[in-house]
Amino acid sequence: MLSFRNIIGHRTVKDHLAEGIRNKHLSHAYIFEGDDGVGKLLTARTFAAALQCREGGAEPCGHCISCLQMESGNQPDVTLVTHEKSVISVGDIRESICVPMTIRPYAGPYRIFIVDEAEKMNEQAQNALLKTLEEPPEYGIIILLTNNREAFLSTILSRAVVLDFLPVPDEELIPYLMEEAQIPDYRARLSCAFAGGSPGKALACAVSEDFRRRKEMAAGLMQSLPDMGDERMAVTAKSLAAKKEDLDDILGLMGIWIRDLMYVKAAGKKAVPMYQQEEGALAAQASRIDYEGIRKLQEELDSLQAKRKANVTLEPAVWLMLMHMKECYTS
Ligand SMILES: [Zn+2]
Repeated sequence: MLSFRNIIGHRTVKDHLAEGIRNKHLSHAYIFEGDDGVGKLLTARTFAAALQCREGGAEPCGHCISCLQMESGNQPDVTLVTHEKSVISVGDIRESICVPMTIRPYAGPYRIFIVDEAEKMNEQAQNALLKTLEEPPEYGIIILLTNNREAFLSTILSRAVVLDFLPVPDEELIPYLMEEAQIPDYRARLSCAFAGGSPGKALACAVSEDFRRRKEMAAGLMQSLPDMGDERMAVTAKSLAAKKEDLDDILGLMGIWIRDLMYVKAAGKKAVPMYQQEEGALAAQASRIDYEGIRKLQEELDSLQAKRKANVTLEPAVWLMLMHMKECYTS
């Protein structure tokens, strides 16, 4: 059910929006900025539902006709603007916002447009939107969702209330995954670490078979790395280089292993690593590497990422990384 209470994290944002609804102190334009999956769309839909709710409270009531329409995604005065293309053109903006905005709301007090991935608007599209924002009808509210406010013209930014969606802290996210989605703690922890504070991404990882497979691969590789023979290393480099669509995730998961290693080395037995199931292996490894070595592991990982961006041939680059990483451990 759409409710501010059901949105995890983002307390400041929720308080600000609820306060605006209570005091009828609203802007005609909002920019919600934050990472993908962090909760911008859910918050925008909840905000819209509360604004249109027939009961008129700061929370959607959940049972009036407008709230029921919001739940099923067909409230006639709330439009979600999405797009497949990589650029939102002036034509798209005119057709989906500027023209419909001139029509009065059918039933509710507002006509609300939620624009997903609004950073895709090119300059002409933004200028068209700006015209609407300069003289908005009293009932008009536009919510732009984005992962990058820098993409907007300063004239748009100055007319909008910009709200930051910060990463949701692990302490909130881990219990949420365990309780709401019935995910075991060890999987919840690793998914959270990987998702960088994004509930949508964490949830997707936690239930994904692909993610589980990549995690097994990354953990297996990092565990065997200190004693990996030449032949196995060559085979591993080849297979990693061939897994183009898995590689980003695997490297990210290797990065979490390295962070865990640092943590276990520093905190000893008190540490609860993100790789909770591999706790023993991490502790054993921590005794075979010093802090400088752990730092070097991360450097090697970063160096491979840089090489990938420069389009170097992958297999020898991965092999070199594994070689250098192995050298960081004592035998
Ligand atoms: Zn309602």
